[in-house]
Amino acid sequence: MVADLSDAEHLKFVLLAEGAVVSAAAERAIEVIVDGGPWSPDDYASTRGVILRLDDDVWVNVPIERYNANFVAGSTITLDLGPDGFFVHGRGWESRAAFWAPAAFHSRVNGAGRPYRHFVVTHGDRSRLSPTIGCAMVCDFCNIPFDDAYGGVKPVDPMIDAIEVALRDQQQPGHHLLISGGTPGPKHVPALQRVYESVLESFPGIAVDIMMVPLPGLFDLPRLDALGLNEISVNLEVFDEGIAAKVMRHKHRQGREFYLNFLEDAAATLGGDRVRSMLMVGLEPMESTLLGVRAIAERGAVPVLSPFKPDPVTPLGHSQPPTADETLELYLRARDLIDELGASLGPTCPPCTHNTLTFVRHNVTRGDYQHPLPVLHTGA
Ligand code: SF4
Repeated sequence: MVADLSDAEHLKFVLLAEGAVVSAAAERAIEVIVDGGPWSPDDYASTRGVILRLDDDVWVNVPIERYNANFVAGSTITLDLGPDGFFVHGRGWESRAAFWAPAAFHSRVNGAGRPYRHFVVTHGDRSRLSPTIGCAMVCDFCNIPFDDAYGGVKPVDPMIDAIEVALRDQQQPGHHLLISGGTPGPKHVPALQRVYESVLESFPGIAVDIMMVPLPGLFDLPRLDALGLNEISVNLEVFDEGIAAKVMRHKHRQGREFYLNFLEDAAATLGGDRVRSMLMVGLEPMESTLLGVRAIAERGAVPVLSPFKPDPVTPLGHSQPPTADETLELYLRARDLIDELGASLGPTCPPCTHNTLTFVRHNVTRGDYQHPLPVLHTGA
């Protein structure tokens, strides 16, 4: 037990690592809520579980056997239903839980018969636009290049249409946007730049974040800033250069120093609290991840820690995610480190912490994430 962590916060580490068993009563209640639809955004490995909000504003993406059979079996934690609604319990901890139901548009098609989710998927309160078909790079932990062969940048109009549908969804409307997923080949960089500009111009009242590899010539940060960009995320993923060269050989070609210099320059241009970099926890020794946390924070950007989840279509599909003890120890050491550096772990948006090692209660927030809460079901 860690004195300043609540039951819900302790549970998050175990749920991220081992998932939960869903009791028969909870299963029946969720089936009524989703009315035959999916339980999960099921977009990529770290969003493939069910999203719950626990006590203390703790958000967690919980792997369950129906979506994560490759590594969830016989968890010690149960998602249950009692007289007061959903709750999770196990190992002496207990917390109320509210269930996040996926958006209705995830199961619908557009006017041309294409599923909207080929363009946009909502997780928590954020709708993610995937602007490319597949990815021109291959990383061994990422499903995107293994799901679809690379096919360039998608046409802009159906993407804008899908965003409009996602923001108006009657079941789970998105409240902010992320453009991410899939890196374009060099000849498609101008098309991706047009996507960024079109989205920023089409949705001026909505916070739009971009997550992308810093390809040569892709980012004109002063221009994106003038168009209203909210935040940018350039993910180191793996700090150890030897491991990075193996598991993300294309993305690593620019080298770690290039990424760090980009983060430093972006923080100087946009302000450090608008520049994030994610490290995937569990693919390298803990000491190496902590060096990454330090390097990102020292460059003035915000480190984000996201536990590795194996995706069955990838070469790492049979690997195990980091254990709860490992992520807890890493979190505590990272928290001490960034306190010492006067920094903060991201992200700042509470629902967007569902697949990261971040707690709203312990975070220094920017204070401008005042989106309405997503629609939650308590089961009561
Ligand atoms: S570059 Fe990004 S989208 Fe492409 S394979 Fe790597 S992590 Fe996935």
